[in-house]
Amino acid sequence: MRILIADDEAMSRRLLQKTLERAGYQVCTAENGRQAADILCSLDGPKLALLDWMMPLLNGPGVCREVRKAKEQSYIYMVLLTSKEAKEDIVAGLESGADDYLVKPFDTAELKARLRTGLRILDLEDRLVEAREDMRFKASHDTLTTLWNRGVILELMGQELSRSHRENATTVVVLCDLDHFKAVNDSFGHLVGDEVLRETAKRLLASVRSYDFVGRYGGEEFLVVLNNCDPAFAFARAEEIRNTIAQRPVKTSGGPVSVTISLGLLLSHEWATRSVEELLHEADKALYGAKEAGRNCVKLAKPKAAASVSEYRVREPVKQRR
Ligand code: GH3
Ligand code: MG
Ligand code: MG
Repeated sequence: MRILIADDEAMSRRLLQKTLERAGYQVCTAENGRQAADILCSLDGPKLALLDWMMPLLNGPGVCREVRKAKEQSYIYMVLLTSKEAKEDIVAGLESGADDYLVKPFDTAELKARLRTGLRILDLEDRLVEAREDMRFKASHDTLTTLWNRGVILELMGQELSRSHRENATTVVVLCDLDHFKAVNDSFGHLVGDEVLRETAKRLLASVRSYDFVGRYGGEEFLVVLNNCDPAFAFARAEEIRNTIAQRPVKTSGGPVSVTISLGLLLSHEWATRSVEELLHEADKALYGAKEAGRNCVKLAKPKAAASVSEYRVREPVKQRR
């Protein structure tokens, strides 16, 4: 564990450094409070600090106050070293944001024990942050595929639609559904089916740009949102997605499994300000059209009732970008 020792007296700094290095700490030092605050507030600075109270430029409590104000970083455990023994000084030190204090001259064993307390707190914080991140991830991602889950992908789609409407741009919505997926489960078993879903998700992600969105819409249905997409390339982009699934079988524990996918495509600028639900309904109708047309193809949703599904044919597969 790294620790910062801030002390303006070279002698006591060196003594402390030796003691703590012998105890297994990686020590860095500061000669004044200003330097200490900068080191602690820097990205990837040490999370444990031993701060002398009296220092030039900024005293120990001043360092504590500055560090506590910088809320972005993870917790820093700070121990004040002081020759001030009065209760009001100790209270003022702790009020400034210090976690603990030691009155000089201090006992080495006590210092080490107090630092170990700090390590326990920091370890607890690490585990809490990890658990929070894990919960955040689980709340927004689909467990099987790790894609955005349904709630999040719909929210992202809504945001993109509003943005593209404001900016007079086009958001392309692609509703995808694996073909005859039930047959995959029936022939190879549910676990192999799961492997196919995971690989499908991977290929979908690999076939879009980093700022596009891919989510799991339902069982074997996926929703792809192509942000700020040139309408002239929308169909080709959907074809690329189709091809990325059809082009080679999925390697599974049950052997290679060939799957294809059908897609319903929708270009937001053709639909004025329709709601997410209405647009998805239209994309779903186009997807149904693709299924009707024999699957493994893309159909475009068209606003006019008479031609809600256009007659796009599957063209030569477009080469996949890598
Ligand atoms: P179509 O080409 O018309 O889409 O036919 P399909 O068989 O793909 O469609 P259908 O809706 O009849 O069946 C979908 C299947 O997807 C049935 C369901 O058990 C399966 N499925 C849904 N979620 C999962 C999952 O998480 N894992 C696995 N292995 N299968 C799933
Ligand atoms: Mg299906
Ligand atoms: Mg389905």
